[in-house]
Amino acid sequence: MRFLKAILSLVIICTAYLGDFVVFKSKYSASFPFRAISDSIVHGSLGFLSSLMFFSYENNLNSEASALNVLFCTILSSFIDIDHIFVAKSIYLKDLTNLKQRGIFHCTTFFLLITVILLLYSYLNRKLNIYILTFMVVLAFSSHHIRDGNRRGLWLYPFGSSPPIDKNLYVFLLAVLPHVTAYFYLLFKGDFTRHVFVDYTAV
Ligand SMILES: [Zn+2]
Repeated sequence: MRFLKAILSLVIICTAYLGDFVVFKSKYSASFPFRAISDSIVHGSLGFLSSLMFFSYENNLNSEASALNVLFCTILSSFIDIDHIFVAKSIYLKDLTNLKQRGIFHCTTFFLLITVILLLYSYLNRKLNIYILTFMVVLAFSSHHIRDGNRRGLWLYPFGSSPPIDKNLYVFLLAVLPHVTAYFYLLFKGDFTRHVFVDYTAV
């Protein structure tokens, strides 16, 4: 497993560097449709790899549930860019290029709020599936926002935006993120599976 984690970290780093090169510096980069589609694929791939890494820490979940969660994280990582359409109020390319404003799915504080609500709900109701799903949401939005943050910083409404994240720092954060989230996941997971002990002898 340690070997798998090292390989996955390396693949995440390579995907981020190579993906940015293909999207922004290749000979097709001048084409907006190419940039939009390839950018979505890179975001999805990073979500896929991050969730795979996350599940390399989890041995008790069945493979079908893990695969569904990985699929969800992959799709959500790409889907976040759908808000370009909401901001432009159009699906036409000429309206989607050069958007000045960012959509709500690119607001980091919005997703942090969703995360807190989901964590509280899952914890209070002891719903392990929602608890796992919350970490998929965290991996999807944080990997997407950190990668976008290399160009535009993090949007922390109502506090404004951070400066753009340094390229090497953003790649490092992407590689570290799945380990940190898995650590926090495992920290509280026991509370979901622990059975309530009823002392019948005291009745
Ligand atoms: Zn984006």
